[in-house]
Amino acid sequence: MKSATHAISTIKQRIRQLSGELSYHVDRIIKAKDLIKGTVCIQKKKCGNSHCRCVRGALHQSKVISLSHQGKTRLIPLTKYPLIDIMRIERQVKNYQLFRRNRAQAVQVFKALIEAFNAIEQYLVHEVPSYRREAGYEQDGRGSRSKKSH
Ligand SMILES: [Zn+2]
Repeated sequence: MKSATHAISTIKQRIRQLSGELSYHVDRIIKAKDLIKGTVCIQKKKCGNSHCRCVRGALHQSKVISLSHQGKTRLIPLTKYPLIDIMRIERQVKNYQLFRRNRAQAVQVFKALIEAFNAIEQYLVHEVPSYRREAGYEQDGRGSRSKKSH
């Protein structure tokens, strides 16, 4: 069986490691900027022209950004933007996803930290020691009565 000292030192090591991980995610959250809450995807569709190749399954593909706002999904075609803007939008969408990933990881690490705090508390907390009036006083379970004979 492991000693309590060993267990405490293992938990302390874990707390330090988790604290480092938390600080990493917090740092990335603090540094986050220019976020677009959306997803860039490829939309495939038919154009409606009955003579077009898309009728035979070669669907038209276009890059769109899918934005969720108040429960509704809005699709904005990116094809009408200049390439430089498309690249910037895609980067900002990635920034948002990275932000969310760091947020989720920070939450997980924080939960693990709380568990480690609870674990170390169990090792560190102890009862109030029995009251001793003077040196040599032996508690016999009957309290101070044993000293009355003096
Ligand atoms: Zn077509």
